[in-house]
Amino acid sequence: MSALYGTYARSNLAFERGEGVRLYAQDGTEYLDFHAGVAVNALGHGDPHMVAALKAAADRVWHTANTFTIPEQERLGQRLVEHTFADACFFTNSGTEAVECAVKTARHYFWAKGQVDRYEIIAFTGSFHGRTMGMIAASGNEHYLEGFGPPLAGFVHLDPNDLAAVEQAITPNTAAILVEPVQGEGGCTEMTGDFMRGLRALCDKHGMLLILDEVQCGYGRTGKFFAHEWTGIEPDIMAVAKGIGAGFPLGACLAKGEVAKSMVPGTHGSTYGGNPLACAIGNAVLDRMLAPGFFEQVDHVGQRLKWHLQQLAQRFPHQVLELRGRGLLAGIRIAAPVKEVVARLRDEQHMLAMTANENVLRLLPPLVVTEADIEEAMAKLAAVFEQIEAEKATA
Ligand SMILES: *Cc1c(COP(=O)(O)O)cnc(C)c1O
Repeated sequence: MSALYGTYARSNLAFERGEGVRLYAQDGTEYLDFHAGVAVNALGHGDPHMVAALKAAADRVWHTANTFTIPEQERLGQRLVEHTFADACFFTNSGTEAVECAVKTARHYFWAKGQVDRYEIIAFTGSFHGRTMGMIAASGNEHYLEGFGPPLAGFVHLDPNDLAAVEQAITPNTAAILVEPVQGEGGCTEMTGDFMRGLRALCDKHGMLLILDEVQCGYGRTGKFFAHEWTGIEPDIMAVAKGIGAGFPLGACLAKGEVAKSMVPGTHGSTYGGNPLACAIGNAVLDRMLAPGFFEQVDHVGQRLKWHLQQLAQRFPHQVLELRGRGLLAGIRIAAPVKEVVARLRDEQHMLAMTANENVLRLLPPLVVTEADIEEAMAKLAAVFEQIEAEKATA
């Protein structure tokens, strides 16, 4: 009997060691990791630069509260500002807190301008923004809201990629639009470029703020630093996490200066957020990701993954129903129950993959994955699909 909450349907599998895209279980069995701790292990396991950075940081000050200057945090913020639309950052410990900060920043921006009723946020069905009371309301998923009392008010949910519906839903109280450019957990649905540009135009027209949740699709996963870079638009606020610490708990809310300026002393805070240890790791991640050619390589390998998935879809037209996502956030809507396929991949093929809603199999390999790794993964997927078809034929 475990001493832990029963909130996860855990497998008994425990890992001891990792190297690149490989994980090794306690009994030594090797697993191909196309799960990456839910898109967190962006640089794979045991990256020597990351290990050295953590060891060096352990010899310095681990933690000082944000009442003092934290040089590693200043540096990480400066680098993020230099490489994005943003002018200012707030560091958190998680993705949920990063989106929470984004929502607070948007609401406070209008409050400070005297528009106190302007707090409504348009969000989308199939989205996932985290698990705090605020973020289950932002996500709007009934399963996550049920049983937890009245949800936080002020969120409206619409279908993704329906710009006319968004335009109709805007009221004088609408403060912002909150969207994942590529949904993760919801089923890997990508927002179209036209939809994203349309949202930006509506925000400009109505003086609203565009908030992007790039917690999963950002930090290189789609083949650019941030997924919105594919669409040519910029947000006003953006939440990031997952890959930002490559396994160390860290997140950030990035904003334009004009938008962030009402967040004065006392308006928000975090004890751990952006502590020296976390930011040393965040800087080491950027050393690797901002090196010339890193994102180009992710883009290249992401396109190879797509090509291989198209081959798989042609070979198994009754198993692969639809390909979704972008880059190394790939979704395969399949015919067989996705939980069963994930279990077979794990137990029979020793490959780790994820589920997403709408019966989508989600592939999230570390960004350092090679085409050879992808070919190996495709062979494992094919073996599972073949087995399912053979069982169907004899049934
Ligand atoms: C994972 C995720 C979150 C929540 O992040 P946590 O680190 O689990 O708090 C929020 N938004 C998106 C898009 C995510 O994928």
